[in-house]
Amino acid sequence: MSRADRTVDVLVVGAGPAGLALAARLAGAVRVEVLEREQEAGGVPRHCLYGGFGALPERLVLGGPQYARHAVRAATAAGAVVRTGVTATGWAGPLSLEVTGPGGLERITARAVVLATGARERPRSARLVPGSRPAGVLTTGELQQSVHLYGQDVGRRAVVVGGEPVARNAVRTLRRAGAEVVAVVTERPRGAAPAGVPLLTRTAVAELRGRGRLSGVGLRHEDGRTGWLACDTVVFTGDWIPDHELARRGGVPLDPGTRGPSVDGCFRTAVPGVFAVGNALRGIERAGTAAAEGAAAAGAVLAHLSGTAWPEPGPALLVRAPLVWVSPNRHPGTAGRPLLLRSGTAVSAPVVTVAQDGRLLWRRRVPGRTSPSCSLRLVPGWSERVDPTGGPVVLGLG
Ligand SMILES: Cc1cc2nc3c(=O)[nH]c(=O)nc-3n(C[C@H](O)[C@H](O)[C@H](O)COP(=O)(O)OP(=O)(O)OC[C@H]3O[C@@H](n4cnc5c(N)ncnc54)[C@H](O)[C@@H]3O)c2cc1C
Repeated sequence: MSRADRTVDVLVVGAGPAGLALAARLAGAVRVEVLEREQEAGGVPRHCLYGGFGALPERLVLGGPQYARHAVRAATAAGAVVRTGVTATGWAGPLSLEVTGPGGLERITARAVVLATGARERPRSARLVPGSRPAGVLTTGELQQSVHLYGQDVGRRAVVVGGEPVARNAVRTLRRAGAEVVAVVTERPRGAAPAGVPLLTRTAVAELRGRGRLSGVGLRHEDGRTGWLACDTVVFTGDWIPDHELARRGGVPLDPGTRGPSVDGCFRTAVPGVFAVGNALRGIERAGTAAAEGAAAAGAVLAHLSGTAWPEPGPALLVRAPLVWVSPNRHPGTAGRPLLLRSGTAVSAPVVTVAQDGRLLWRRRVPGRTSPSCSLRLVPGWSERVDPTGGPVVLGLG
């Protein structure tokens, strides 16, 4: 099959809120092309009928599909080319992507590449749940697409697994599809089950059973008790992982905490000309946060296009337990934007410490709360105290 070779100024991979917001900002000034592997642009909000999507410049609060359409319109009205059914499959060079779509294979070379590939829930296989491999085993994303985009049947009796707020969306979607939700199961001490649905905390799904279709799940409580729930559908929710495959294939270094590309406060990765924004950086945040990151990266992309030198990567920002990640995660800091800090346990108004090479740079109580499903926003008043030639900067709670 013949392959077309083309060039653009900025190639954005992923037409979700982050990639579209960036494209909307840049398209008046440079040639921007956005690639989206799905048949429609808009990202995850396209299939989120529940919830509130806001923080657009007009401060509207919209349903997910409306929000997605609004974001697509803003990018195309600004002049961005948004192509759907087109997947970036690999790299042909530092700023060249192999692409496949309805028109065949292409190689697109850009002056800047932006990874805005989003995040996904870890499926059953990655969670190492033993048992058979029956039909009826989904993530929330797969469930929402089946119900809201394709109108498919998803079963009659369902179990939802996970302790993050997204479990509620899964319950609502299952109910809308006519399924009874027999329980929400989480290993955490607390969870998110709507009224009328039994919540089983400190409990793991230890086994899936069924030939052809799922017939039930085995349970194990942390005190050793075991149980069984008959069901024909199980939905694994939360436990997000950045969609980092393309970054890995391009040799873009990942952060050990977020497992997304490591970036500085201007969303620059360690590979000159390659940026990353949105949930591709660290798993799920609200759409407004992802879009704000996309918009904020525009200035750095334009600076790069106008010849500003790509800085050497500064000291890494690392975290100490109970913190699990920080984003962005490289100095120089965040140009006035907050750092997002995530903890593995719930902590309210924590005292945050920042140290480098054994020297305490900053210690302050920060309003707000962090937990396994909620980030703390940290305005970095300490970044000017960082020695750019020093060792890693370590954030902790103290
Ligand atoms: C169930 C659920 C409910 C939610 N509810 C809310 C809510 O009520 N309010 C709120 O503010 N936020 C909500 N969110 C969060 C919000 O949807 C995300 O923060 C937002 O979509 C992130 O935007 P993004 O652009 O980073 O990624 P995404 O929206 O995930 O977009 C990434 C896009 O990249 C594409 N892509 C990936 N790899 C490639 C490739 N190689 N080639 C081409 N295309 C590629 C994907 O197909 C996808 O469309 C919810 C999320 C979920 C899952």
